[in-house]
Amino acid sequence: MTTDTQLLLDHNRAWAARMERDRPGFFTGLLAQQKPRYMWIGCSDSRVSANEITGLEPGEVFVHRNIANVVVHSDLNALSTIQFAVEHLKVAHIMVVGHYGCAGVRAALQGTRIGLADNWLRHIRDLKLRHRKRIDHLLPEQQEDVLCEINVIEQVGNVALSTVLQDAWARGQQVTVHGWVYGLRDGLLKDLLVSMDGTETVVEVFRTAIKRYPRSPGPVVDAEADTTFDSLDDD
Ligand SMILES: [Zn+2]
Repeated sequence: MTTDTQLLLDHNRAWAARMERDRPGFFTGLLAQQKPRYMWIGCSDSRVSANEITGLEPGEVFVHRNIANVVVHSDLNALSTIQFAVEHLKVAHIMVVGHYGCAGVRAALQGTRIGLADNWLRHIRDLKLRHRKRIDHLLPEQQEDVLCEINVIEQVGNVALSTVLQDAWARGQQVTVHGWVYGLRDGLLKDLLVSMDGTETVVEVFRTAIKRYPRSPGPVVDAEADTTFDSLDDD
């Protein structure tokens, strides 16, 4: 009987045979080394596959994924992956890629309890509080889309401010960090125009990107908008 997983192994055999038939030497060519030009930092969501939606083949993109594409300054997993990509693989571009309809962003926005991941998503909930004047006045579905985008912009900043990128730029290495968001509805990637290619670009690019989200013209009505979070304002 063919099980669910046996099906995958069967597909793999067929794919490998097809690749070798159509492009003899494809696998042995990749055997010696990988030299990807791109690094992808994305959400673990099964609908957002880095290679498939960008048309990249094995060997062309180095991937790190986690729930809601968060880059935390103390996350040794993400930092180690970024360091390897920048210092050893010498990627030219790092793309932080969020997606609309992200369950992690939605849970952070609504304060839904999931479990252990609540602590991880707290990073996004903090962003929602910091930028609440740009988010809370929007309709609920708009809030989610905007928080998905702001999360990407913030994570681009976190990658850019990591010791890995700071050191790379200090020694003159050319590597650019980009922020994209993927639409589940249409399969299209949107460039959030937050590309950073040097330490001197970080603050201005970040500010310009965030200012694209207008603040509420009136007073903010938010149960959590008390003085506790005043220091988190994005003024
Ligand atoms: Zn997601």
